Amino acid sequence: MQQEHYEVIARKWRPQSFDDLIGQEHITETLKNEIQSGRIAQAFLFRGIRGIGKTSAARILAKALNCRQSEAPTADPCNRCDACLSIKNGNAADVMEIDGASNRKIEHIRELRENIKFAPATLRYKVYIIDEVHMLTREAFNALLKTLEEPPKHVVFVLATTDDHKVPITISSRCQRFSFRRIGLHDMSLALHKIAESEGIQIDDQSLLYIAKRSEGSMRDAQSLLEQVISYCGTEVSPEKVSEILGVVSSESIQELTAAILADDPETILHVIHSLVRQGHDLEQFYKDILEYIRNLLVLKISPKAERLLDNATMGLEVMRRQSDSHSLQELRTIFKYLLHAEADIKRSASSRFSMEMALLQACRINSLESFDDVWQQVQRLGEQFSVFEHCLPQELSVCDETTVEPHFRTTIPSMSLEELAETACEIFEGHVLS
Ligand SMILES: [Zn+2]
Repeated sequence: MQQEHYEVIARKWRPQSFDDLIGQEHITETLKNEIQSGRIAQAFLFRGIRGIGKTSAARILAKALNCRQSEAPTADPCNRCDACLSIKNGNAADVMEIDGASNRKIEHIRELRENIKFAPATLRYKVYIIDEVHMLTREAFNALLKTLEEPPKHVVFVLATTDDHKVPITISSRCQRFSFRRIGLHDMSLALHKIAESEGIQIDDQSLLYIAKRSEGSMRDAQSLLEQVISYCGTEVSPEKVSEILGVVSSESIQELTAAILADDPETILHVIHSLVRQGHDLEQFYKDILEYIRNLLVLKISPKAERLLDNATMGLEVMRRQSDSHSLQELRTIFKYLLHAEADIKRSASSRFSMEMALLQACRINSLESFDDVWQQVQRLGEQFSVFEHCLPQELSVCDETTVEPHFRTTIPSMSLEELAETACEIFEGHVLS
């Protein structure tokens, strides 16, 4: 049932004109200008994450080139003539959509090259849309390159990829390249609200924000999540139900756990994780939320006015400011760096809960250690002492034995500049924390 419904919504809300494409104005305006001025490129490369409108834009371009309502290509295809309708319904003989993943071999591209020579059957232009083009084999790319070097006048290529680093430069340099952006939280929430409204669903801003945030900028993912939420909640959607179905951890839990890390309170950390596990939350997502939250504290510390750089609009800014104000930049930076570093281990671990507990407990130790300033002063003092013995051999520096600094640093400190000493102080401090 759900699958059928999803198809309906996704198709229903597929953008049909350039103005329908959300968050990609930098691309649609350029394409419209090119079409209006008659300077249309013959090969395009659309790059960006899944579900942000690359294939939709390619189909709209195909309609714009071929719409019969005007004598020449138009930036505003009618969506009613037989050309527009056949492209919309996916049965236009002259618009070929090729999946690069399943047609990746040289034979497929050779076939395409044979086909390209013939004039369009019914439309003005033949349009070849090759999706996931980075999946082509090297031989297939070479064959495609020959076609891109001198395409017949009646042919336009649109290559789409989620991984443009795998597209050879010889190919991409022959295309007009467009980078599709992730859709921002605000635009995404507005778009979802419009869909919900027309489907007769009552939904509040907080719920929309939860869905928008979880979709990570992909409209297709957001539509699919909205579908899931509607199936679960019916016509009245509440933030509690959305957080339940999406496994969103409340902002209070995130703030409580962060406060525990900053206050060196391991007991609270264990309690918060225990209750999240009992409620069946996705711990990996929770860890991501914690990372994002601490990153935001760091951003506020660096630039107190940089609210627009904060990724999470669902959290109370006042609490964040208080937490950020009461800790040093070095502390926040070290905790963030440590937790980021531990993320890969947690993902790999067979017991992710325990790895996560370990990482969070370790992070909260940071406050109980010597402060960075203390370590820095120690190193500076050592540097001064060592400069007196500049010409001695390292083993003659008996003073070193009384220090707590690693042997590696004892031998290298005498020859360091002030910048290098500062860097060393950082290493020693982080060494304490990470060990
Ligand atoms: Zn038309």
